[in-house]
Amino acid sequence: MSESASRQALLPGHYPTIVKSREHLGKPPNLLDYEAARAAFRWDWARGLLDGLPGGRGLNIAYEAVDRHAKGPRAERHALRWIGRSGAQRILTYRDLQAETNKFANALLSLGLGEGDAVFVLAGRIPELYIAVLGALKAKCVASPLFSAFGPEPLATRLKLGEGRLLVTTEALYRRKVASIRPQLPKLAHVVLVSEGQQGAQAAGDVPDTLEWHQLMAAQSPDFEIPPTAPEDRALLHFTSGTTGRPKGAIHVHEAVVTHHITGYYALDLHDDDIFWCTADPGWVTGTSYGIIAPLTNGVTNVVVEAEFDAATWYGVLQRERVSVWYTAPTAIRMMMKLGLEALRNFDLSSLRFLASVGEPLNPEAVIWGQQAFGQPFHDNWWQTETGGIMIANYASMDVKPGSMGRPLPGIEAAIVQRNADGSVVEIQEPLVEGELALKAGWPSMMRGYLHEEERYRKSFAGPWYLTGDLAMRDADGYYWFVGRADDVIKSSGHLIGPFEVESALMEHPAVAEAGVIGKPDPVAGEIVKAFVSLNPGFTPSEALRRELLGHARKRLGAVVAPKEIDFSPALPRTRSGKIMRRLLKARELGLPEGDLSTLESNAE
Ligand code: ATP
Ligand code: MG
Repeated sequence: MSESASRQALLPGHYPTIVKSREHLGKPPNLLDYEAARAAFRWDWARGLLDGLPGGRGLNIAYEAVDRHAKGPRAERHALRWIGRSGAQRILTYRDLQAETNKFANALLSLGLGEGDAVFVLAGRIPELYIAVLGALKAKCVASPLFSAFGPEPLATRLKLGEGRLLVTTEALYRRKVASIRPQLPKLAHVVLVSEGQQGAQAAGDVPDTLEWHQLMAAQSPDFEIPPTAPEDRALLHFTSGTTGRPKGAIHVHEAVVTHHITGYYALDLHDDDIFWCTADPGWVTGTSYGIIAPLTNGVTNVVVEAEFDAATWYGVLQRERVSVWYTAPTAIRMMMKLGLEALRNFDLSSLRFLASVGEPLNPEAVIWGQQAFGQPFHDNWWQTETGGIMIANYASMDVKPGSMGRPLPGIEAAIVQRNADGSVVEIQEPLVEGELALKAGWPSMMRGYLHEEERYRKSFAGPWYLTGDLAMRDADGYYWFVGRADDVIKSSGHLIGPFEVESALMEHPAVAEAGVIGKPDPVAGEIVKAFVSLNPGFTPSEALRRELLGHARKRLGAVVAPKEIDFSPALPRTRSGKIMRRLLKARELGLPEGDLSTLESNAE
């Protein structure tokens, strides 16, 4: 590690720690004393917070999310509060959700589907998506929600890879994207189309080789008994975001619900009467683990918003629904920052108690902006499709160091390791030395495999450690700091440079809305740091601004780490889940093949 040890860590210590005071806390946080909770934690205890199927018949995600509340005092509580694109609302209580998911489970059985059969859902964030996923879990099918914006090719790839037996989609999406690929999908036995209103139902009933959702559901009983479910039975198939290459299919089992539940409780601080909103789409793992499962197992009201990001719409939702816990992503936060505090002025957002973010590194500027805009910082947390749930987080009770992802969840052992040539790893104990972030395998929501990629799965482990592919460091207080993905880290004149620090420093400049940083091959230095920036309103690209930004970065980061080149770019390429695709910036810069673009945002429709 001599190379990286020589690097001066720039982020830790640069921004003042946000000390949590009583006024920050409001309600007593569920995780009041991190050290004590960590010392006492046992996964058995977390499992004991759930009910398990009656009669000791196992553990099923949908039972914990829906049925156990539907038969208790929460039965009439709003489980899903759906806000449609047009502003229409649909509310499902826990009792309603039980009846609807039971019907869908019965429908699957009536079609001959059951244990292990893959049920895909391709739809925007409509109530039927949520019903289909939970109903599939009840029937012990494997549920896999897909981004509605995928084009025919990525859909065909995923449906083939996952051996989809049934697809729930809408009539419009079917005609546009699925009908043409259907001949390639012999295993896809059934397609169920969700249509709007009576007329739509009739029209959809006419599409050859498809079933119509409402007709299918109308014929089903609202009673269903979940069959015995072993904790290790397959439950969910999620594809990764494709930020670094071709998306991988990660397999998760019913036992994952233990992590979903406890992380909702500890890391998102869900309390009984919370109104929770996770802005992610279920097409990526956050939108399922935290947009469906964790809020429901915790028995809170889950707000679902069909519309994509628009500041006025979003602030309107927060105000009208009295959202108390909000889980969003850096890309959305940066968009809000770009619009400024002015856009917030006329909204009463006093119901917000806890703000969290995931998906990409959260720049310190964004953490601090949360305080200005909402009276409290955004709490960054880190995890991956593979880990199934939050692993490292900033907790409600814990001081926030802007730029840090926080500390490992009780029950999760994290380490910074270095890989040896023989494939083994050694732990780096010294603080603020970069290495690969590793987690001791064995938590309930860890993936059980990459679909059809046994070798790749095996290679993700070294002894007891799962290797995440992300570089990070830990400070003396046990806080973890993201450095970059292993693939994105830049080697310049013998120094290792993490794009995140460079991007964060650029974002401190008032002109910069967003930055993406890559290593560009250079005959002398090996690589040089190159930045692509998009500007805030009121700023225009110019040579003078470029020089100013180069100067700002040099002052802030030093000559070795600061970018040597800066390009202005109106928008940076990002994945559908909002992550900057540095590999694409690099491929374009170097004129190399662009690789798998199935998850690229602008490419999706
Ligand atoms: P692929 O694996 O296909 O390249 P991906 O890694 O982006 O895509 P996800 O599983 O959706 O797919 O994302 C997990 C990754 O996102 C993490 O490994 C990390 O690189 C990044 N990430 C998530 N949360 C954070 C965070 N709080 N700070 C920094 N990076 C984060
Ligand atoms: Mg990944």
